[in-house]
Order: sequence, then C-alpha cells, then structure tokens
Amino acid sequence: MHELGVVCEVLKTVQKIIEEEQVSEVEKIVLQVGELSGIVPSYLEECFPAAVYKTPFENTKLEMEVVPGEVKCKNCGKEFNGFAYNLKCPVCAGEQLEALSGREFIIKEILAR
Ligand SMILES: [Zn+2]
Repeated sequence: MHELGVVCEVLKTVQKIIEEEQVSEVEKIVLQVGELSGIVPSYLEECFPAAVYKTPFENTKLEMEVVPGEVKCKNCGKEFNGFAYNLKCPVCAGEQLEALSGREFIIKEILAR
C-alpha cells in the first residue's frame, strides 16, 4: 500500500506541472529511484495501472531508472553497493555506513504528447 501512496503523490505532482505547462496528455513519466530510497521499483510498476485507472494518466507509461545504492563504511573506508550487501560492510562487517548515492526519488522527466 505504501507504493500506491507514492504513485499517487507522483501523479499529483505531475498533474500540477502539466496544469502549469498547459499540457493535456502525458506520454511518459520517467522516475529516478535510488536503491536505498526505500522504494521498490517493481512494486511501483505493479501499482501504477491501478493508480492511473480512470484518470487522465491512463495511457501514460512509467519508466524508471534505478540509481545504485553506493555506500562507504565508516569503519574501514570500503566503498560498496549497500543494496547488494544488505547494508553490511563485506570487509569488516561494519554497519556504520555513509550513503554516497541511491537515496534519490525524483521525477526526472515528463514527456508530453
Ligand atoms: Zn568496513
């Protein structure tokens, strides 16, 4: 249900933008989703059809770019993919990590028809 709420928020934002830009139809929405944003792209994809059903976005496509969740271990300085290693350092097993990238969740592009 969390993801459905996220999709609704995205659509609300897009709606506001297209009203300002006076666009009538949106062909595609491109989102940038970080692996560490807490948002699961496949869930978003699943919720999307339900969220746009009987709305002006019914024919809009959703595209997602996944940003790798790179982190740095505060203990030993090792940089690794936090998502792949389950937020645990593969060298020292430290869990004190600094996120370098992958926390973003942004609307990157809106394509008007
Ligand atoms: Zn470490």
